[in-house]
Amino acid sequence: MDLKIGSFESIIDNLYDGLYFVNCDRVITYWNKAAERISGFTAEDVVGKSCSDHILTHVDIDGDNICTGSCCPLEATILDGKPREIELYIHHKDGHRIPVSIRVTTLTDKDGSIIGGIELFSKINDQTANELRVKELEKLALLDNLTQLPNRNYIKREIGSRLEQHKRYNSAFGILFIDIDNFKNINDFYGHITGDDTLKFVANTFVANARPFDLYGRWGGEEFIAIIHNVNIEDLELIGNRLRSLIESSYIIHEDEKLFVTISIGATLIKDNDNIESLIKRADALMYKSKASGRNCLTSG
Ligand code: GH3
Ligand code: MG
Ligand code: MG
Repeated sequence: MDLKIGSFESIIDNLYDGLYFVNCDRVITYWNKAAERISGFTAEDVVGKSCSDHILTHVDIDGDNICTGSCCPLEATILDGKPREIELYIHHKDGHRIPVSIRVTTLTDKDGSIIGGIELFSKINDQTANELRVKELEKLALLDNLTQLPNRNYIKREIGSRLEQHKRYNSAFGILFIDIDNFKNINDFYGHITGDDTLKFVANTFVANARPFDLYGRWGGEEFIAIIHNVNIEDLELIGNRLRSLIESSYIIHEDEKLFVTISIGATLIKDNDNIESLIKRADALMYKSKASGRNCLTSG
């Protein structure tokens, strides 16, 4: 059967999937109707332009622009001839992001030499789109809603990366494991909302008094962890005790009554054979020593 180019065009124009061709410089040479429908860009808008030219702006789930970075799948496929499949977002002409699944392969001439690339992209069905969204949310899920401090996941990641830095550059850091004393009493006497307000006030006190490179996070419940950069044990104790006195002398007002809380702290520096768990466990145990010594104090080790 002798199909004319025109017939091919009408077939690929009517594909359900978006399809476009680029030459070896990633200049778009063909753009089908489905690509138009999915992206909002017409062939007129894009043919003759480079696909890295703020047109589709492919972003991966980390929000990184892969068109301008070093991992453009079309570029990679044109270079190594290997087809690729990936799920990511494209920007619609109207600005919103659309989750798509893309497949990339090479465009070859009749001798088999690579003369460009072909990208086929389809809108992801709801379930897959949802999985992408969940991954994105997981990334966002690093913040504690109540206090707006980094949460446990974030703290672990942060300690993990500081541990790496410690191994590589021997950079010292320490952590403070902080627990509010007799916090249950606040809830019991004044109610959960006042309990929440207390947690927020304690968190805000930490943040307001933090040094720029230190990090304060909520470990859970009424427990917090501070990661203190570049310290020796004396400085770590000093920083912890300063926080302790700040909290001790601050209060929130509840129905004309001043409510005070205190904190107990365990302070420790990173050691060479530590991992995340051993470091936190040691700090936690030191914090319990502070509880056993009567609370509102700091124990280091
Ligand atoms: P200790 O000095 O030994 O630490 O005593 P504590 O009362 O602080 O410790 P305990 O572990 O007995 O109680 C902690 C309480 O913290 C119990 C729990 O209901 C409360 N809590 C945990 N998370 C929250 C929260 O998000 N909001 C409020 N209001 N209370 C919370
Ligand atoms: Mg506790
Ligand atoms: Mg407590």
